[in-house]
Amino acid sequence: MRQLFAYLKGVHAMKPKAGQKRVLMLNSGGFDSAVLYHKLVSDGYMVYSLFFDFGQNNVVEEHDTVVRMCGGENLRILKLPSFDWSGSSITSGGECTEDLDKIYVEMRNLIFLSYAVSIAEAQAIRSVYYAVSKSPGMYKDTSDEFVKHFNDISRMCDVEVFTPFADTEKKDLIHLAKEYGIGYNDFFSCYYPTEAGRPCGECLDCVFLEELYANKE
Ligand SMILES: [Zn+2]
Repeated sequence: MRQLFAYLKGVHAMKPKAGQKRVLMLNSGGFDSAVLYHKLVSDGYMVYSLFFDFGQNNVVEEHDTVVRMCGGENLRILKLPSFDWSGSSITSGGECTEDLDKIYVEMRNLIFLSYAVSIAEAQAIRSVYYAVSKSPGMYKDTSDEFVKHFNDISRMCDVEVFTPFADTEKKDLIHLAKEYGIGYNDFFSCYYPTEAGRPCGECLDCVFLEELYANKE
């Protein structure tokens, strides 16, 4: 088997224990991803993380967070061409906005999951996870319908995509986050980081997560 996850300098792919199931997840380093990663590890899976550099404003902060989260092990980083056709505020230095239409990156998850399923098939991994949580402003490529149709294709190669938090709101994920000991500095969900690489403190994600953590301390 080719060692797709062993390309980082000084990092080796960990081997699963006998009988341990391997799963692949899209890992952005954000809050939902952090909860999902720890849940999968806690459930006993050997977790492989896939991180995408697609020209997002916070790529450095997200990348460093993901490396810290999984200790650099079983991590694959893919650099994509920048999404320069998109006017999304989360790429190309866009400005903080509350307008979900301006945040949306056109069918980003279709592209991410296509890579994930191809890698999963190549590595004989049967389950791909991504951490979409329930929110009022769901994007087309995070909807149940999208996942259902995507799975119609991915099952052709015996790979299934799972979104275990699709019916769970972020405010309920905080309980799991606490259970797994995930602190406010253990994820990076802000797309508009400061020059010092800190969350901006003003965007929707920052305000919501700061409140969530403040109420649960
Ligand atoms: Zn922010």
